[in-house]
Amino acid sequence: MSTKKPARRLTLRTRVASTMTRGAAALSRVTGRGDGSVIGGRVGLLVDPHLLANLAEGRQIALISGTNGKTTTTRLAAAAMGVLGDVATNSLGANMPSGHTSALARAGHTAYAVLEVDEHYLAQVLAATTPRVVALLNLSRDQLDRAKEVAMMASLWRDALAAHAGGTHVVANADDPMVAWAVWDFAHASAADATVTWVAAGQRWHDDSWVCPNCGAPVERAGDEWWCTGCELRRPDPQWMVKEAGVVDPTGAYHEVRLQLPGRVNRANAATALAVAAQFGVAVGDALPRLVEVTSIAGRYATVVRDGRTIRLLLAKNPAGWLEAFDMAEPAPTLLSINARDPDGLDTSWLYDVDFSPLRGRQVLVTGDRAMDLAVRLEVNDIGFQHVTSFGQAIAAVPPGRLEVIANYTAFQDIRTELDRVN
Ligand SMILES: [Zn+2]
Repeated sequence: MSTKKPARRLTLRTRVASTMTRGAAALSRVTGRGDGSVIGGRVGLLVDPHLLANLAEGRQIALISGTNGKTTTTRLAAAAMGVLGDVATNSLGANMPSGHTSALARAGHTAYAVLEVDEHYLAQVLAATTPRVVALLNLSRDQLDRAKEVAMMASLWRDALAAHAGGTHVVANADDPMVAWAVWDFAHASAADATVTWVAAGQRWHDDSWVCPNCGAPVERAGDEWWCTGCELRRPDPQWMVKEAGVVDPTGAYHEVRLQLPGRVNRANAATALAVAAQFGVAVGDALPRLVEVTSIAGRYATVVRDGRTIRLLLAKNPAGWLEAFDMAEPAPTLLSINARDPDGLDTSWLYDVDFSPLRGRQVLVTGDRAMDLAVRLEVNDIGFQHVTSFGQAIAAVPPGRLEVIANYTAFQDIRTELDRVN
């Protein structure tokens, strides 16, 4: 298999645009307007609308997309790909074309790139970067989105793959019917299904996939299997599986996966990252030691010790994320914090989509702008709780030992700021 396309000479326009991308990013950093990766990319794309495509040319690229886990999976895949050499990758949150442009401009010449892609931009970034591998993790409602929008997103992915048949290998989650459907035609159009690798990455949240996106009939489940009762859509046979504390690769070999990131969901992210890296020729045994190095991502999963309490921060942005956080949290006192500012979504009715009963029996504290919404929800779920008005109060209210914190987007940022201040 060919491993390297010849590096292409960049045109003057692309070189100027690339320099401006880096310049604007640096300017943005020194003026304190964030890390500049978005503004830099925007400036560069104004000068050269093909800048992303030009910067992608000559690199072997993997794209990672999905509602949840894409940041972590991107980090893990970039770490695994590091076995091969330097890997360009985008910084947190910069997962749209301007962010990709900036990441590639900043990285200079690298043979490889692993890019996290906002699910809405998959078609555009596929077309611009002609990646060698695309990993599709899951689709579920984000914030107050409706299940209908989930089906629409699956349909956009499906069209994107149909428009981009040549040369790209897809790594996809066999456990998510929406993802399986988005990839279905792509998988079956190819001669021997060899263009898709299926990963049994799990799906804790089923509420957005009870109805078949293909024919509208109910989807049934038994154990790990799922199938449509009205058409041929069903769970594809996975080549990679998460098993106990590790993964099983396509040869059937079991590998223990040690991570600093908690929970089964992160072992699934690791399985996807390993499947992506394998497409570039990275052996599992070589990648595993690099996965252990990946620590907290922008404070997610970070552990902080304060007044004898070991505090761990878990970010949960949407209903599927809350269920995953309950899986990750140890059975210890748990603080829940919810805001409903713009980035969180203004509507908290999604609270009723989530079953909070895994928290029953532990000490539960609630805080945040919308602590009262949370309180009502916990009442309905018959879970005792205590309201606190600050993070300091929460720490004082729990015994020395572990404190798990689960928060949505801006609530998470508030707690991080508060912890940084006290530090
Ligand atoms: Zn169907």
